Amino acid sequence: MIKFYNNMDIETLKQLKNQLEAEKTELEKILEGFAEKDDNKEWETRYPDIAQGESIEEQADEVEEYENLLPVERALENKLKDVILALEKMDIGTYGKCENCDKDIPLDRLKAFPEARTCKDCE
Ligand SMILES: [Zn+2]
Repeated sequence: MIKFYNNMDIETLKQLKNQLEAEKTELEKILEGFAEKDDNKEWETRYPDIAQGESIEEQADEVEEYENLLPVERALENKLKDVILALEKMDIGTYGKCENCDKDIPLDRLKAFPEARTCKDCE
């Protein structure tokens, strides 16, 4: 049987890959709901369209909603980047190694956070 880091067998790796791909689809779907990719492929929260005839309060509400979404967009985008990075690492065979101390990330941690980039000690 082919062994990867963590003595991970191919079935476990496939499971984690499925988990990551599902997460990627889900995150992109949520982001598409209120943000768009700009020319640099970075996600940007859509700025509210201020329609004619809207009251100042309506406009303020829309801007407030936009401002509340910004940190959400940032957090989702960062998670999405980690998910994509993890999938790339699977392709090149470095998946499951802590980026900081180079040790294997324990399998139970990867199962809970398949996009984890570091072990718990280095987090
Ligand atoms: Zn570490």
